[in-house]
Amino acid sequence: MIKTDAIIIGAGPVGLFAVHQLGIKGLKAVVIDNLDRPGGQCIELYPDKPIYDIPAVPECTGEELTKNLLEQIKPFDTKFFFNERVEEVIQVKDDWKVKTNNNNEFSAPNVIIAGGVGSFEPRKLSLKEMEKFEDRSLFYAVKNKEEFKNKDISIFGGGDSALDWALELSKFSNITLIHRREEFRGAPHTLSEIKKLEKEGKISIKTPCQLTSVEGDEKIKSISIKFENGMVEKINTDIVLSFFGLIMKLGPIAEWGLNMDKKTIEVNSRNFETNKKGIFAIGDICNYPGKLKLILSGFHEAALASVDCFKRARPNEKYRFEFTTSSKSIQERLRKK
Ligand SMILES: Cc1cc2nc3c(=O)[nH]c(=O)nc-3n(C[C@H](O)[C@H](O)[C@H](O)COP(=O)(O)OP(=O)(O)OC[C@H]3O[C@@H](n4cnc5c(N)ncnc54)[C@H](O)[C@@H]3O)c2cc1C
Repeated sequence: MIKTDAIIIGAGPVGLFAVHQLGIKGLKAVVIDNLDRPGGQCIELYPDKPIYDIPAVPECTGEELTKNLLEQIKPFDTKFFFNERVEEVIQVKDDWKVKTNNNNEFSAPNVIIAGGVGSFEPRKLSLKEMEKFEDRSLFYAVKNKEEFKNKDISIFGGGDSALDWALELSKFSNITLIHRREEFRGAPHTLSEIKKLEKEGKISIKTPCQLTSVEGDEKIKSISIKFENGMVEKINTDIVLSFFGLIMKLGPIAEWGLNMDKKTIEVNSRNFETNKKGIFAIGDICNYPGKLKLILSGFHEAALASVDCFKRARPNEKYRFEFTTSSKSIQERLRKK
C-alpha cells in the first residue's frame, strides 16, 4: 500500500499541473495513467500540432507542452504509475483507497480525477478467437522489448506505432508487417527504412490484407491473412502485435458513486470537489456551469483543488496563500534556493 497526500488519476496536462500545485504547497502526489507515457490527449491525439492559447506561450506543440510540464514538476520527484488503470476508489474512514488493474493499492486523503475523456484503450482486433491469446502472444503495446527477442512477430497496422516497432524489433526478430491498405500512414522516413529492409529480406510486408484466422492452443503458432484478391497466406507467428489506434472509454470512473452528467463528473466550482468529500475532478472530465474544455481552465481548476487538498492532508496546519516570486518555502520546494 502506497501512502501519499494525493492520488492523481490521469497524466494529461491537467494531472501534471496538479502535481505542481500540490508540490508548491508541500504535498506529495502519485500519478496513475492507463497509457505508457504522460501527456494525455496532447501526446496521443496532437503531438505535432501547435497550441496557441496557453497563457504567455504564443505557440507550442502538444509534445512541447507535455515536456515543459514535466520539466516544471521535476523538483517534486513524483512517482508515476503507467500502464495501470484505476479500477476502484473505496472510502476507508477519512481516506481513500485506490486500486489498479495491476493490483497496486494507494491510500490518501485526496483523490484528484484528471481523467479527461476517460482512459485511452487500444482498438482491439475484431477476430474473436484472438481474445484468449491476449497478454500471452497477442499484445497491443510493447512494455519490455526484451520479451520480443528471437521471435516470429506479425505486426498489424499502418501508422507510426506499427512502423516504429517493425523497425526496432527487426534488429533481433523476424518481422512481418501487415496492413489492410496499400499505403502506410506513418512517417515517410521510417517507411523508407522499412522498404530498404524488405529489399534486404529482413522484413516482410503484406498489403492489402486482413487477419482471417489463428492457430494455436496456449500460444499462437500461426495466423492466416487474406489478400484483397482472395488469396490466403499462412504465416508462422509466435507473437502478434496490433496497432490500430486508441479509443477513449470512460471506463470504471462511472462506477465510483460520483454524480455524473453524461460522461462528465459534476463538481462545485469553488474547489472542484465532487459529491464525495476528498474526491476532486479537474480538466475535461469535470462539469460545472460555464465549463470550458480548455487546458488553461484545467490549470485553474488544479490550483483551486490543491488548496482544499492541503486542508485535508494537513488538518492541523493553516493554509497560507503565497506568491512563488516571494515565498522562501515554495522556492525551497522548487530547489531555487
Ligand atoms: C485535436 C485537439 C486539439 C486541441 N487543441 C486545444 C487547444 O488548442 N487548446 C486547448 O486549451 N485545448 C485543446 N484541446 C483540448 C485539450 O487537449 C484538453 O482540454 C486537455 O487534454 C484535457 O486535459 P486533461 O488532463 O483533463 O485530460 P486528458 O488529456 O484527456 O488526459 C487524461 C488522462 O487520464 C487517463 N485516464 C482516464 N481514466 C483513467 C483511469 N481510470 N485510470 C488511469 N488513467 C486514466 C487517460 O489515459 C489520459 O491519459 C485539443 C484537443 C484535441 C483532441
